[in-house]
Amino acid sequence: MELNSLPDNPYLLLTPGPLSTSKTVKAVMLRDWCTWDDDYNHNIVQEIRGRLVQLASRNPENYTSVLMQGSGSFGVESVIGSAVPADGKLLVIANGAYGTRMVQIAQALKINHLVYALSEVNPPEIGELKRMLDENPDITHLAVVHCETTTGILNPVREVLAEAKSRNIVCILDAMSSFGGIPLDMRDWGADFLISSPNKCIQGVPGFSFIIADKHELAKCEGQARSLSLDLYDQWNTMENGGGKWRFTSPTHVVRAFLQALLELEQEGGVEKRFERYCTNQKTLVSGMRSIGFETLLPDELHSPIITSFRSPSSEKYVFKELYDRLKEKGFVIYPGKVTQGDTFRIGNIGEVYPSDMEMLVQTIGQVKFW
Ligand SMILES: *Cc1c(COP(=O)(O)O)cnc(C)c1O
Repeated sequence: MELNSLPDNPYLLLTPGPLSTSKTVKAVMLRDWCTWDDDYNHNIVQEIRGRLVQLASRNPENYTSVLMQGSGSFGVESVIGSAVPADGKLLVIANGAYGTRMVQIAQALKINHLVYALSEVNPPEIGELKRMLDENPDITHLAVVHCETTTGILNPVREVLAEAKSRNIVCILDAMSSFGGIPLDMRDWGADFLISSPNKCIQGVPGFSFIIADKHELAKCEGQARSLSLDLYDQWNTMENGGGKWRFTSPTHVVRAFLQALLELEQEGGVEKRFERYCTNQKTLVSGMRSIGFETLLPDELHSPIITSFRSPSSEKYVFKELYDRLKEKGFVIYPGKVTQGDTFRIGNIGEVYPSDMEMLVQTIGQVKFW
């Protein structure tokens, strides 16, 4: 494959995913695969499943992984809908759109649940969590988002999960926008189910989600799913016993691209090195933006290196769409804000992007300034 013959993307995606991917990730999609054949099931699917558990813990033997069709939310729904038994009760921590989505999933699936709701700029507090768990001893499961991509806030999930684990509560972690980009260990953290997707920090393309699960907890999900297609146990059982076979049509090209993305994560030096690059991206972006008069929504200590929310300029002449269009013309795609409190916009720090891209972006924002 002559990579130079592949067209360049007209702009860099500075978004929370899908994001800019390497040409090599895109190039491996230029062939077809048979879902019945070992070239696909053994060499690609099983290879990916093995690599995922290695990334998730220093004790990979306790964990297994499942790939699930659909975007990230399908993976979250498959876990919530399969892990919580009919007589279980779920506590959802929600301080943004993705926490709220887990509440909506529980509502849609008619799962008995309780919500610890916070504003988008506040992380959960352990004292309040303890109080809720004391008052509701019937809670069996807890679901929390690691990096709430709504704002870029990093929730103190280690402390949250430790509290839940001390009460034998099963822990579900939405690490969609952090897995592969922020170091974590499921065993040290006490996560029983972790959900993520290829098109975030692993820098693949969208089309499926993946779940890494404690084997013992996953085994308990048999027969519990509230959906046929999103039955986590059955999907796992088929993959595990069928040598990497998916129950229904798998997104073959996207899965192949994901393997390439995993290899490139390894070549970069693993999660630690990628984390360093994202941190440098984010710091470069924030210091540059501050130097031209912008303020971040969150204080630095609450910030993840994944995505950054900026307050919109207060000038009446400022319109997000105009900034968006002008930057797109110059090769950068940014993202609208998603918070209820105040006007913001977001800039993603993840993907095949480097500190020099962040410097160029800040310079370009300075040039296109129209307010
Ligand atoms: C991206 C994301 C999801 C999943 O979103 P989809 O649009 O379904 O892929 C879930 N949680 C978080 C925290 C995310 O960043």
